[in-house]
Amino acid sequence: MTSRGTLYTVSAPSGAGKTSLVKALIDTTDNVMVSVSHTTRDMRPGEEDGVNYHFVDRDTFTDMVKDNAFLEHAEVFGNLYGTSTQWVKDTLERGTDVILEIDWQGAQQVRRLIPETIGVFILPPSREELTRRLTGRGQDDSSIIDARMQEAINEMSHYVEADFVIINDDFDVALKDFQAILLGTRLTLKNQQQRHCELLTSLLS
Ligand code: 5GP
Repeated sequence: MTSRGTLYTVSAPSGAGKTSLVKALIDTTDNVMVSVSHTTRDMRPGEEDGVNYHFVDRDTFTDMVKDNAFLEHAEVFGNLYGTSTQWVKDTLERGTDVILEIDWQGAQQVRRLIPETIGVFILPPSREELTRRLTGRGQDDSSIIDARMQEAINEMSHYVEADFVIINDDFDVALKDFQAILLGTRLTLKNQQQRHCELLTSLLS
């Protein structure tokens, strides 16, 4: 995949604040978009088709897999999720950075296909806070909360595969960290050479 934008994967256990952080990053940073995944899971209250996800049935999803429509796809908590290859390719080619909010399985697949992908992992500030965030969502019994905690630990065990790690204790600090990752990456030699090719040529002529 030839691209002018940078591809990021952002992974986190549920309860780490990933979706809110990604949304705040998109709202405060120019030239970056988040990919809208396809999923077979049911729509939750407040979600919108085409905004949070493209909600599809299993047959449609399976046909898309057969048609090679997905850059990566994975089963997470019994539902299928996938990232559209075409949208990612077109957006990167336009020079826009792309964020994939995906689980560790998807992040591994993307890194294998596109090794220059930058992996970001978001972690909660403590075990106690994670438990509080996972419990605070409703009146679920302890076995459901234990299962959520196990899933969170499983996801978190993959943080070592990322290039950058953000600890989401104070939201504003975590957002600044996230912005710094994007801005810093835009200033690397490779990206600056690509963006300012004419300037660099004229300065040295
Ligand atoms: P949720 O259903 O709660 O929105 O997301 C559940 C999990 O699926 C999260 O860890 C989320 O990052 C992951 N996920 C969402 N979209 C995709 C995708 O396109 N591919 C993969 N591999 N995981 C995804």
